[in-house]
Amino acid sequence: MQEPWPTASTRFAGVIGWPVGHSLSPSMHNAAFRALGLDWAYLAFPIAPEHLESAVRGLFDAGCSGLSVTIPHKQAVIACCDEVTPAVEAIGAANTLVPLGDGRVRGDNTDAEGFLRALDEAAPVDLQGRDVLMIGAGGAARAIAFALAGRGARLRVANRTTARAAALGDPVEFTRDAMERAAAECVLVVNATSLGMGTDEVPPELPVDSLGPGTVAYDIVYRQEPTPWLRAAADRGAPTVDGLGMLLHQGAAAFAQWTGTEPPVDAMRAGLTPR
Ligand code: NAP
Repeated sequence: MQEPWPTASTRFAGVIGWPVGHSLSPSMHNAAFRALGLDWAYLAFPIAPEHLESAVRGLFDAGCSGLSVTIPHKQAVIACCDEVTPAVEAIGAANTLVPLGDGRVRGDNTDAEGFLRALDEAAPVDLQGRDVLMIGAGGAARAIAFALAGRGARLRVANRTTARAAALGDPVEFTRDAMERAAAECVLVVNATSLGMGTDEVPPELPVDSLGPGTVAYDIVYRQEPTPWLRAAADRGAPTVDGLGMLLHQGAAAFAQWTGTEPPVDAMRAGLTPR
């Protein structure tokens, strides 16, 4: 982009969350704008929950060309949308807002698409009629359950809070033994909890012994290095998928909607990885 920049015609998009300073989305989306020479900028907006509705309206009234939505706003933001996609209706959460050009805003959820694209890219597996174990039943897990249902998988769910597991699939007891037994019968095991986020040890709750070449291990926790659980799975010969792939592809799907342009996925991937 030529200096001086930004100018009066620079378009802007961004992410809303509370807090939002940790978000990798600005570096991912700004890398995409640079790669395509688009005169756009992507910013992070810390929005307190009590200001959510006025902030969303105000940003779009000020010409915002697209918003990503992160914790804790993914559910509450639905009330700010004029229309939502079937994915939002099924998942009960939106992570992408798209201005429709007539003052209205559409809410979408690209987490499910991002989850599947990262899987197809790193470790493609036929899920039709096959058993999948998902550990976790929070917001991300709901999007993943929607994605897996679309692929015809039979979903088994283990969650610390058992009642939430039963709402998404066949419940599996949240004990290491029960999860090892279930994982041994599955083609894919997904960690959709936050376990493993801030530790260099494999979380003792997660199954490892039952993983092997016939079972894909997918950890949606994103870190620059593979999580300890993914490293342990890879040591046993399991194909692995990391959370950066899901983050990348949910962002790419949002980018396509905001810009109407094919996302430069390799540039976005590089933008997620600090040099
Ligand atoms: P959430 O709605 O708060 O759900 C958290 C999940 O983790 C629940 O199932 C919760 O169980 C479980 N959990 C939390 N602490 C636990 C513990 N100490 N022991 C056992 N289970 C525990 O959060 P979320 O939005 O689903 O996010 C979950 C993780 O996915 C986070 O690490 C987030 O960064 C990551 N994520 C990644 C992507 C991506 O693109 N890669 C996208 C979204 C989220 P209970 O139900 O019992 O509380």
